[in-house]
Amino acid sequence: MDYLCSECSMQLSKFEIELNELYPVGKLYCEFCQSKHEREIIKKIADSEEDMENDYTRGLFKTLK
Ligand SMILES: [Zn+2]
Repeated sequence: MDYLCSECSMQLSKFEIELNELYPVGKLYCEFCQSKHEREIIKKIADSEEDMENDYTRGLFKTLK
């Protein structure tokens, strides 16, 4: 059975299939698309942490007043 990347339909290597089994994300991605998605996830996490920091800082300022 062939495993194809669900984004670019490239055939996955044995190593990439093993990676997908280790870190299942519901879809099969080749190494290139996988890292592309990882960057998006990291960016989302970084953005949400930035928001949290702003809320936290705002809360601190409130208590100081
Ligand atoms: Zn791909």
